[in-house]
Amino acid sequence: MIRASVRDALSRIQSAFPRKEDLETLLSLSDPDETSYLHATACAVRNTYCQERIAVRALIEISSVCKNSCNYCGLNRYNREASRYTMSNNEVLQSVKLAASQGFKTVVLQSGENGRTTESIAQLIAQIKQKFPIAVSLSLGEHPYEDYLAWKRAGADRYLLRIESTDEDFYRSLHTDRSLSTRLECLAHLRRLGYQAGSGIMVGVPGQSISTIARDIQFFSENQFAMIGIGPFIPHPQTPLAKCPAGDLLLTLNTIAVTRIVTKYPWMPATTALGSLNRDYRMEGLMAGANVIMPNFTPQRYKSQYAIYPNKQSRAETPESLEHLGKSANLAIDYGRCDSLLPEWNTCTPIA
Ligand code: SF4
Repeated sequence: MIRASVRDALSRIQSAFPRKEDLETLLSLSDPDETSYLHATACAVRNTYCQERIAVRALIEISSVCKNSCNYCGLNRYNREASRYTMSNNEVLQSVKLAASQGFKTVVLQSGENGRTTESIAQLIAQIKQKFPIAVSLSLGEHPYEDYLAWKRAGADRYLLRIESTDEDFYRSLHTDRSLSTRLECLAHLRRLGYQAGSGIMVGVPGQSISTIARDIQFFSENQFAMIGIGPFIPHPQTPLAKCPAGDLLLTLNTIAVTRIVTKYPWMPATTALGSLNRDYRMEGLMAGANVIMPNFTPQRYKSQYAIYPNKQSRAETPESLEHLGKSANLAIDYGRCDSLLPEWNTCTPIA
């Protein structure tokens, strides 16, 4: 039984700029019939705007060194127990080669901030682009415009930088030495340079409310990102948030679904964090409107050291396991580049 108020809210957020009250109503759903209806609507929107497919991206965690102190992250600089490594260019190229040999057309290079120099990353990007017909997504945090420019010129295609929260005070409570305005400025630089820009949030971080999530979804709607990553908060024992509960699964799935319905076009991962709760919930993420899986190609000896939260499941996946995941979700596996689907993407003029 679906309440008329829920149907009305769903209908309104599909046809106009989403009202905060409607977003809050939908994010708060817990009745199984109503959440199934919400998630099924999100899948229908995904299938219409992105086709019935899952994009696969090869994730390589190139360095666990970080100068920041995000309160939720096991790689924060105050965690003396964290293992720190930085992969050499050669090691990264070997991982890219393996991904390319399995048919992947996108690699995502991820690290904490300050693990490598600007020049060595630019060299690495150029080497990847010379050797492999593959798109390069970066997820390397906040950097000056000049760094983003150097990496774009070297051939990088995309950049992922989660906003984490659009609420200034809440943002500052999580990132004591950083500001929301800097993060927004970084996102503006990335867009200006012609990157396919991605963003996202964690769900269930202490201090976050339904209201702040609703505002974040309005931000996604206003800014139209090529990629949006949403995953549950998982507490790390060596952080100030160690004793806080993990993010609620249903709220995470509802956030994915509502974001999908509002923003329509983004590539949205069924995140590693969703696969690292008490069991693997990535299928539920796909059934709530997600459409990306990121198998982990970080070399085995480094995987466990990239511990942004405990028990991170760094699955490599096989063609068979991906096919199985796709079949179970009624989606085809797409090994192509899967570039931005935003309508304005093809007409935007990057400044370099
Ligand atoms: S979230 Fe990223 S920037 Fe923050 S401490 Fe962890 S690795 Fe560093």
